[in-house]
Amino acid sequence: MIAKSLECVRFGTLFAILLAVMCGAGRARAADASAGAADAYTVITAATMIDGSSQQPRHDVTVVVHGARIVAVGDRAPPDVPATARHIDLGKATLLPGLIDSHTHIFLQGEVPAEGGYDVQLLKQPLALRAARATVAVRRALEQGFTTLRDMGTEGAGYGDIGIRQAIEAGYIPGPRLLVSTLGISTTGGYPLEGYAPELSLPKGVQIIDGPVEARRAAREQIDKGADWIKVYMTHRSWIGADGQLASQPTLTVEELRAIVDEAHGWGRKVACHSYNGIGLKRALDGGCDSIEHGLEITDEEIAQMLRQGTWYVPTLAVYYDDLDPPDTPSGRRDRARIAAHGVSFAKALKAGVKVAFGTDVGGFPWSEPIAREFAREVEAGMTPMQAIQSATSRGAELLGMSGKIGVIAPGANADLMAVDGDPLADVGTLGKAVFVMKDGTVYRNDKSHQ
Ligand SMILES: [Zn+2]
Repeated sequence: MIAKSLECVRFGTLFAILLAVMCGAGRARAADASAGAADAYTVITAATMIDGSSQQPRHDVTVVVHGARIVAVGDRAPPDVPATARHIDLGKATLLPGLIDSHTHIFLQGEVPAEGGYDVQLLKQPLALRAARATVAVRRALEQGFTTLRDMGTEGAGYGDIGIRQAIEAGYIPGPRLLVSTLGISTTGGYPLEGYAPELSLPKGVQIIDGPVEARRAAREQIDKGADWIKVYMTHRSWIGADGQLASQPTLTVEELRAIVDEAHGWGRKVACHSYNGIGLKRALDGGCDSIEHGLEITDEEIAQMLRQGTWYVPTLAVYYDDLDPPDTPSGRRDRARIAAHGVSFAKALKAGVKVAFGTDVGGFPWSEPIAREFAREVEAGMTPMQAIQSATSRGAELLGMSGKIGVIAPGANADLMAVDGDPLADVGTLGKAVFVMKDGTVYRNDKSHQ
């Protein structure tokens, strides 16, 4: 559409009137088409519905979508739905809200050693290549039923996430609704690339700040350029200390973090903090982070502080099971200590009533892996299947400040839906097998239409 408009402007005056008529007609036809879509009714029927907020599933349901929104949920379509409405029968499938992954990296492609790990992505891959692969990543997420992602930093790909978000919103590429955090923030010594000759100036996977003034400026810059969230790395790396305990390096001071949180909150934005354990995690809470990412080892006092402050927990359990080093090596022992501590922290936080949202860190592992594998880890660590589903629906929506709009099947909500064959309450593994995906009323996948 943009190219067509430009052509119209570029032509000379001789055929100006004729062209104006042609171009005008083109625009009018397009406007009619989009007006038609906005007016269209779709009636979806399914044997079972899990609506994202109710504790029980509902059977033999009809969901009516008008344009981009859900307008009715019931046993049958209301009488005022036109007879011309499109009907999508999902048969025995289970209908759910479109899923929300609250921790992704669309610009990362795993850190596969055979492919050069993390560093090669920053050092050798042109930004256009990374953007092309991000385009594939978002399409894969959508096809798996994830209609909203909170992306947690581009890892050296600058403000590329804003471009991908725009491309999705303008309809150039298929993808989930994106909430982006752009560069991410850490301190000198607090993020890769690392380990090169000290004379070299190398790119970093985040924006580096030192001191509260730079911290505040970084938050302002990122928000000015379009960040929906601010992502801060409050710890760096982890290892087993001389005392045999899991340790991680703290990065920002409380003062630096407070400057960021103060600035973000002033703009109505929130701050997500990568925090493993120890001093860095304590500083994350004292500095007022809105969500703790990973939280491998959380003390009872910190859980109490999270409850007091209303802090969210986005644990990303499954990613820590990937590529464990051999058990008899320091890093192998570290890998196993992380998993063990993580499970304990998750169970304690869940029992205490800490708010938990589903996040995977996909991008940290390849996008070819199923995103839904996290559900099984959540259940294994103590959630009921319904809690796990809600962590990726109504709870995720709450974290993102979008309750009632996404993560729920209810009148007034965005028409973000997915469906799976089978019963996800009996086996959350079925959530990895999307057969139907709708976002904002547009169908992106319907395996049922061929049957
Ligand atoms: Zn991450």
